[in-house]
Amino acid sequence: MTDFPHHDDHVHADEGDMLSIEEALEKVLSYTSVLPAESRPLLESLGGVLAEDVRAGFDIPPLPNSGMDGYAVRIEDVMNASESSPVELPVSGEVAAGAVPSVPLAAGTAVRIMTGAPVPVGSGAVVPFEDTDELARRAKDGQLTSIGICKTPKAGANIRLAGEDIRADALVLVRGMVLRPCDIGLAASLGLTHLPVIRKPVVAIISTGDEILEPGEERRPGAIYNSNAYTIASFVTRYGGVPHIVGTARDTADSLNAILDRAMDADLVVTSAGVSRGDYDVVKDVLASRGHIVNRSVRIKPARPLAFGALTGEGRDIPHIGLPGNPVAVVVAFEVFARPAILAMSGHTSLEKSTIQATLDDPIRNPDHRRVFARVQVYADVKTGGYRAKLSGSQGSGVLTAAAAANGFAICPEDSDGLVSGDTATVQMLDWPEQLL
Ligand code: AMP
Ligand code: MG
Repeated sequence: MTDFPHHDDHVHADEGDMLSIEEALEKVLSYTSVLPAESRPLLESLGGVLAEDVRAGFDIPPLPNSGMDGYAVRIEDVMNASESSPVELPVSGEVAAGAVPSVPLAAGTAVRIMTGAPVPVGSGAVVPFEDTDELARRAKDGQLTSIGICKTPKAGANIRLAGEDIRADALVLVRGMVLRPCDIGLAASLGLTHLPVIRKPVVAIISTGDEILEPGEERRPGAIYNSNAYTIASFVTRYGGVPHIVGTARDTADSLNAILDRAMDADLVVTSAGVSRGDYDVVKDVLASRGHIVNRSVRIKPARPLAFGALTGEGRDIPHIGLPGNPVAVVVAFEVFARPAILAMSGHTSLEKSTIQATLDDPIRNPDHRRVFARVQVYADVKTGGYRAKLSGSQGSGVLTAAAAANGFAICPEDSDGLVSGDTATVQMLDWPEQLL
């Protein structure tokens, strides 16, 4: 085993020995490390963490160019131009987008130019079509051998300078940033096809329990369909990992060992169920025998039991998180412990969930002084401009419909006996912010 500093954790915790959420999370994260970078095609880089600085190889725009369709002119040639007495200039050429003017703008002439086309050397401004008499000339005889300028432009008007957006060698994308759509566009504008991005963690998902059926299998008495694996896999995808549903272990050591063997190429192993106190000890024993895995109680509700540590793989240790079995406990424990682990492995440094303050419509009870993650629906209060939160359904740890109906978790702190309606609570948003609008 490698030198993980947690050898005091083996004992089964009693109530007084519960870990705080912060302690548990710190321990979970201590088994993770940032994955190596890979070169990823631009469109697959969205949401990834950039592994190296990206600098511009050239100016953007590369040349001074026109911001409008119009006529490039020298300012001194069009002084005192007005609607009533336009200054007439011969048209000495035309530049289309993508073309490069071969000669400077000859004094006393105008060049017809399209948006984005490089302006000829010597241009003082571009006069847009609507400030010329082009339409009238076209209507009259279609000839554009000369043009009437009806307004004196300001120096530099409608000319975008070379390097106005990005200077050659400027730092454009910074190592460690989370790539958003405009960043992908910036990389493309630099001509790049790939970006160096921290690899996505492959997360092996293992369910346990004799009662578990897979969707598609025939129903039988006493059995329930496996929802946890699918909830977990979906959250893994949402938070930037690659889910791999390995399978469901029966409550025997052989079955769990066989499934775990198939998870040893993962970056993180997430199991569900088999870690609570009443459970047959198969899951706990097997996990403990395959690395440094401990089973602790955490001061959180739902999701008190939690296993974490590292499984011994071939030549490396694989971080493991053992979630409880109840479907809502899975959601909460995933959000609180597995999400930060996935983000940390993907190179994120900001692991906090965004929160809002909301006025509660319903009480949140807390008889046993844990941190309660109540499933709530947050909605905008048009009267006050603030937010309100109402319980989204029964708060049983098996009631997945209430978690499905929730867009956040309202938090009752562990030192509180409970919150009453009208109290303000911090709410961790699950879906933010579109669903609120
Ligand atoms: P356990 O931790 O094994 O005692 O499981 C706690 C509860 O979670 C039990 O009611 C299980 O039936 C339920 N459960 C365990 N695994 C799953 C799963 N994969 N999908 C849905 N429910 C589950
Ligand atoms: Mg079980």
